[in-house]
Amino acid sequence: MTTSEIPIDPSAAPPPDAVDDHLRELDFDPAAAPDPEGPAPRTVIFDVGEVLVDETRVWSIWADLLGVSSLTFASVLGAAISQGEDHHVVFPHLAPNVEWQEFVDEHERRFGGLQDVDVYADARPCLQELRDLGFEVGIAGNQPAIRTAQLRRLDLPHDVLITSEELGSEKPDLAFFAAVLELVGAAEPADVLYVGDRIDNDIEPAARFGMRTCWLRRGPWGHLQEPPDDLDIDLVLEGLGELPLLLAEWRG
Ligand SMILES: [Mg+2]
Repeated sequence: MTTSEIPIDPSAAPPPDAVDDHLRELDFDPAAAPDPEGPAPRTVIFDVGEVLVDETRVWSIWADLLGVSSLTFASVLGAAISQGEDHHVVFPHLAPNVEWQEFVDEHERRFGGLQDVDVYADARPCLQELRDLGFEVGIAGNQPAIRTAQLRRLDLPHDVLITSEELGSEKPDLAFFAAVLELVGAAEPADVLYVGDRIDNDIEPAARFGMRTCWLRRGPWGHLQEPPDDLDIDLVLEGLGELPLLLAEWRG
C-alpha cells in the first residue's frame, strides 16, 4: 500500500453515541461466550504476543527508533490494523527515509529479550492451573528462534515450546498448525485448543485447520479485529484468568 492510504478521514469518525455503543459491544461477558459442543480439547497451545506477553515495550522501542512518540506509533498501528494492513506498513509511513530492517539488531539490544515485566499477570497462573488440571500446555507463536531461550528463562509452565522460525512455517499458514499438531502428538486437530489474539493469524486459520479456538480480546488486534459472521469461535475471553475453569467445565 502507499503511505497515503493510512490516514483516516476525520469526517468519517462515528458520532459519540456510536462510539459508546461500540465500547459496550466490546464489553464481553465470558459467561456469554459460545457454548462449545463436542469433547473438550486435551492440549492447549498459546500464542505469544498479546496472549502471554504484553508487547508494549516492543512497540515503544520501535517508536523511539523511528523518532516518533509511542502514542503516534500506536495510533498509526491501530489505523493499519483497522484497514486490514500488515503492521509493517507502519514503518515506511512514519519514517519513509529509514530502512527499519537495519535497526532490528539495535531494537533487540534495547529490548534485551523478553523479561518478566513483559509477561501478562494472568499468564503464569493460567498455564500452571491448566497443567495441574492435567491439560497438556504448549507455547507456539510467530516468533524468531531467539525467543525460545528467552521464553525458557521466564520459566513459564509448559510441556511444549516452539517458534515459527523453528517450525519452518508461520501463521496464518495451515502448515504451522499442522506442525504444532504433530509436535504435541495429538490424534485430531479438535484435541487442541489454540489461544490467540488475532482473528486473521490465529483464530480463523486454527479453526479452518479443525482446532478448537479461544479468542483473547486484548492487545491492538484483539480490540480492533472483528470475526466474520460464519467463523465459529469456541471461547471468547478478555483475559486468561477464567480459561482453566471453563476448560475444566467443558471437560465435565
Ligand atoms: Mg499474538
